[in-house]
Amino acid sequence: MATQTKDYYGALGVKKTATGEEIRKAFRKLARKYHPDVNPGDKKAEEKFKEISEANDVLSDEKKRKIFDQVGFYSDNIDPATAEAYARGGGAAGGGGGRPAPRGGAGQGAPFDFDGFDFSGFQGGAEPQGSGQAGGGGFGGSFKDIFGGMFNGGRQARGPQPGTDLEYQVQVDFWTSIRGGVTKLEIQRQEQCPTCKGRAVTGGSMECPECHGSGQVTQMGGRMKFNIQCPKCGGTGKVQNSCRTCDGAGVVSRREPLEFRIKPGTRDGQRIRLAGKGNAGTEGAPAGDLYLIIKVGTHRLFQRVGDDVHVTVPVTIMEAALGAKIDVPTIDMPGSGSPGEGGHTQLKIPPGTQTGQKLRMREKGVPSATREGARGDQIVEVKVVVPKVQDERSKEILRELQKLNPDDPRAEMLAGD
Ligand SMILES: [Zn+2]
Ligand SMILES: [Zn+2]
Repeated sequence: MATQTKDYYGALGVKKTATGEEIRKAFRKLARKYHPDVNPGDKKAEEKFKEISEANDVLSDEKKRKIFDQVGFYSDNIDPATAEAYARGGGAAGGGGGRPAPRGGAGQGAPFDFDGFDFSGFQGGAEPQGSGQAGGGGFGGSFKDIFGGMFNGGRQARGPQPGTDLEYQVQVDFWTSIRGGVTKLEIQRQEQCPTCKGRAVTGGSMECPECHGSGQVTQMGGRMKFNIQCPKCGGTGKVQNSCRTCDGAGVVSRREPLEFRIKPGTRDGQRIRLAGKGNAGTEGAPAGDLYLIIKVGTHRLFQRVGDDVHVTVPVTIMEAALGAKIDVPTIDMPGSGSPGEGGHTQLKIPPGTQTGQKLRMREKGVPSATREGARGDQIVEVKVVVPKVQDERSKEILRELQKLNPDDPRAEMLAGD
């Protein structure tokens, strides 16, 4: 059986009465000396650094230090209240308070040595470890009263772990987002390991090398030794080989092609959830979900705003002044049915239309992904373009026009108030 004794005060070179500040200083001084960065490749320094780190971890924590002082070692499994009771109950020898004398009658006053006694009954934590030996050693309940709950019972190293969620951004081109379609992408996800089927171990079980099958290891508690549940096998006394395919993880990482439907009207930033398509869980735990964040591509003419489509259309000054029926591009399929392009439709420009004016074409926008049969609008922004007149005749007509319309468009601006 493995026996552990720790001298954390000695490791840091401080007195048992050292203050927190003294401990901190001592650790920092030693850490500077033994840090692996300062001693590359030096195994002894590395060991020493581990030792002082462990000592510092326990002694710099008030609660941990108290337990260490009371019991003589520290383990996360020790319940502080019970350690307290243990210390009060006589960590010092004396055989008081109903504690049974050691078998073999070492005599009053002798240091207790419980080595060889069976304390398995004290480990009855939340998990049924099935030792079936409780009371088998002939000890009564009094022992449990003192030690019961001191060890919460080691936890199995692993259990079923649900898979985590995955999130991927998916680029969808402008037309697919409007008309729908199928998009492909390759994702990397954790799948259940095919070798061990997510169990993380393979083959039959064998004797635990740490406790040699007993399920217990011995710890020193002051001058007492007592048995605790073996941390390696969780008290079962048996271990299994880690699966080599997944290195004991139960899952393997795999790239996977994925195809999924994009609904017509899908918007930029939309989140699509594919339940159970995230990372696999282990030991039968459920898989996570896969979230796809849609990133919609842009178009050189059309701009999407929700389910509306905005487009800027140039018109001549004559069309703007006199009014006209013009052809404007739309997202609707052209008659010829070329899938990657839009069609066009007629729009009436009212006489006297100004540049920047917006005209609404009802229900010429994007089909709604959420409301069946509904469509957004197309908003046409008029941009009046000025002709580059070269010939004398055109210039003459414009001068004439100027004379007929002498109104100053800046009059209001310059009137002041
Ligand atoms: Zn495996
Ligand atoms: Zn073991």
